[in-house]
Amino acid sequence: MAMPGGGADGTAARRDPAGTPADRRRAGAAGRSTVGAGALLEIRDLTLSFQTRYGLVQALNGVSLSVGHRERVGVVGESGSGKSVTAQAVLGLVPAAEVTGEIYFDGEDLLRVSPGRLRQVRGKEIGYIFQDPLSALDPVRTVGDQISETLRIRGVRKAEALRRSADMLRRVGIRDARHRMDDYPHQFSGGMRQRVMIAMALVAEPRLVVADEPTTALDVRIQAQVLDLLLELAEERSLSILFITHDLGVVSGFAERVVVMYAGRVMEQGATDELFYRSVHPYTLGLLESLPRLDGEIPGRLTTIGGKPPSPADTPRGCAFHPRCRYALPVCSEQVPPLVVPPGGGHPSACHRAAWLAERPGVLR
Ligand code: ADP
Ligand code: MG
Repeated sequence: MAMPGGGADGTAARRDPAGTPADRRRAGAAGRSTVGAGALLEIRDLTLSFQTRYGLVQALNGVSLSVGHRERVGVVGESGSGKSVTAQAVLGLVPAAEVTGEIYFDGEDLLRVSPGRLRQVRGKEIGYIFQDPLSALDPVRTVGDQISETLRIRGVRKAEALRRSADMLRRVGIRDARHRMDDYPHQFSGGMRQRVMIAMALVAEPRLVVADEPTTALDVRIQAQVLDLLLELAEERSLSILFITHDLGVVSGFAERVVVMYAGRVMEQGATDELFYRSVHPYTLGLLESLPRLDGEIPGRLTTIGGKPPSPADTPRGCAFHPRCRYALPVCSEQVPPLVVPPGGGHPSACHRAAWLAERPGVLR
């Protein structure tokens, strides 16, 4: 497939993350670059702060992650770790005071494009699904009207837009779709409303879908159905998906790769199986330990990680996780560990003890 931003070949050279600083400046000035064209989405060293009554607080501290073509990536972490802010930054929807870094979508830096271009990309090329369809949907307009709007604002004629919307609604499993187009959001159950949101996100045939806790508000059975549907649509339409959840269990069957976030940083990332069976970060290990096990025995009680995640106004020195970490050493309260592949580790981890953990597979299990 031709990639307008950066040529079509996606060679290994193109995957080189950085280029020279001068390359990056030129790319920034042009708003478009070959850098980052190996992945469909590539976030680089994203920092983001908000102005609050406590002063400037840093919600993201240098987040880098990527989503390949047709790849499903899960972003996991407890509440407040910066998952939603990352998603909103991709969509250009975050009311931040200060943002630095780069967000390449198909070679184009979304932090440096015009607001008009960003609106074009959002909705058409990047679809999004949020946790709460009731607040994302307009209660006084029919769902048919709202789904077809995405197409209408892109110049698709009304009859055609309505036809495609009804097809999409049918595809997400709404029975009698043509008639349900005239219904209002409150006339759908929670699970069905989330299907309507999925139809809205996909009707313009985006290449990337950003889903922020799309099933968190649903009960477990409905949650599984909606996940299955998303997975099916992702395969059918060759979608890339950035899937955000606080629940590591949810990503296990869905994402091919997982990025674990804590206090506005990436703590560990790797292939889903790698993370589940060979994690080399105490935070991920803690999350894993608190999951109900489907294999083997049921533990007497689920453990949780003690303590609470820090607020960005009051992040501990050194590794932000150290006050809750059972493996912490003195260095952990002094120095922020870089995100690197430890010897024997296989994938990147931001932990001073990653190499030590790599020698002790299954230390917690
Ligand atoms: P998550 O989605 O991982 O639960 P968020 O990305 O929503 O976390 O938030 C990350 C941090 O940024 C939180 O500490 C949150 O309080 C802060 N934050 C998010 N949005 C705003 C905002 N609009 N103004 C100030 N702080 C914010
Ligand atoms: Mg969130």
